Amino acid sequence: MRTIETRVLPQASPGTRRSLKILRYGEAGDRPKAYLQAGLHADEAPGYAVLHALIQKLDTAATQGSINGEIIVVPAANPIGLDQWRDDMLHGRFDFVNSINFNRQHHDLIDRLIEAVGPKLGDDVEKNVAAIRTCTAELLAALRPDNEAATLKQLLLSLSHDADIVLDLHCDLEALMHVYIGTPLWPKAEDLSAQMGAEATLLAGDSGGTPFDEANSRPWWVLAEQFQDHQIPPACLAATVELRGFSDTDPEMIERDSDNLFDFLQRRGFIDGEPDKLPTLINGATPLTGVDYVKASSAGIIVYLKKLGDTVAKDESIAQIINPLPEHGDQQLVEVKSGTDGLLFSRNADRFARPGKIIAKIAGSKPLTETEGHLLTL
Ligand SMILES: [Zn+2]
Repeated sequence: MRTIETRVLPQASPGTRRSLKILRYGEAGDRPKAYLQAGLHADEAPGYAVLHALIQKLDTAATQGSINGEIIVVPAANPIGLDQWRDDMLHGRFDFVNSINFNRQHHDLIDRLIEAVGPKLGDDVEKNVAAIRTCTAELLAALRPDNEAATLKQLLLSLSHDADIVLDLHCDLEALMHVYIGTPLWPKAEDLSAQMGAEATLLAGDSGGTPFDEANSRPWWVLAEQFQDHQIPPACLAATVELRGFSDTDPEMIERDSDNLFDFLQRRGFIDGEPDKLPTLINGATPLTGVDYVKASSAGIIVYLKKLGDTVAKDESIAQIINPLPEHGDQQLVEVKSGTDGLLFSRNADRFARPGKIIAKIAGSKPLTETEGHLLTL
């Protein structure tokens, strides 16, 4: 059956307290283990709705006794961000305390893990996996975060790091369904993108900034690289699933997305029974280094010339920026062009541009930079 645990965060202000609700199917420590969360960026609505629907389906499966292993669901992963209302709008991406993105700077334990686990590794893959998980748990438990958000990040990673599957549900501004995942996890994770109907899958070994999915998955391939004499598999399939755009909460989308998550878990052995046939992957994965973050070069009003899902060519105009008050030789109309051949998968939700603002994302197969490490937006 399902249990609900409430973990209280340290007080940030006298008289107030926030807590995290954790739903668990199966017993703590059962294998395999899956972990799903929504709302790490607290103002991204679709994930909450999709997990709400998934929980109904998992409850039914639990009643029928057909859940295997442990499934943890955190329906609202960021109670701090959920409380950040200003001017009648929820602002859940950056911490009001220090402007840190809630999906960056998750605890990076890799250096300490290399030191602590090195002497414990041997020839047995399963023992290596177990030793790495135990070591990670100990390192996490020893952290003494000094603020509320860092405590929340410690708690979330403590719940997820030893899972076989970690799905962090997000959304973009206006976007197609897309998935961010570690390069070493591909193509074994192709069934995730195919099942979700992702139109873009973006691969990186180190996107930079330690987002939650990489805090879970990246230690495995760094350790494998560091200790090449020992067998260390990429034992945590962690992905950031972008459930389209901010306002995509139509009932049929929620139903389809929650069905797809259920089918994915079923195919991976967490739920008895046969899932529906795996849909064909819509588009192959492309490197995150191949994403063109198209920036406006001038201030004004954005008029898009291309739609989500359009295939565009390098140097093709995707938008115009209208300056209603041109002065000193400013152009009234500036064309914004694609920097690559690829798929337009994300656009800005508002229509105001300033120089340097990202107004679109285009997934191309050709890397636009040789180095990883600084590949995510603010
Ligand atoms: Zn997000």
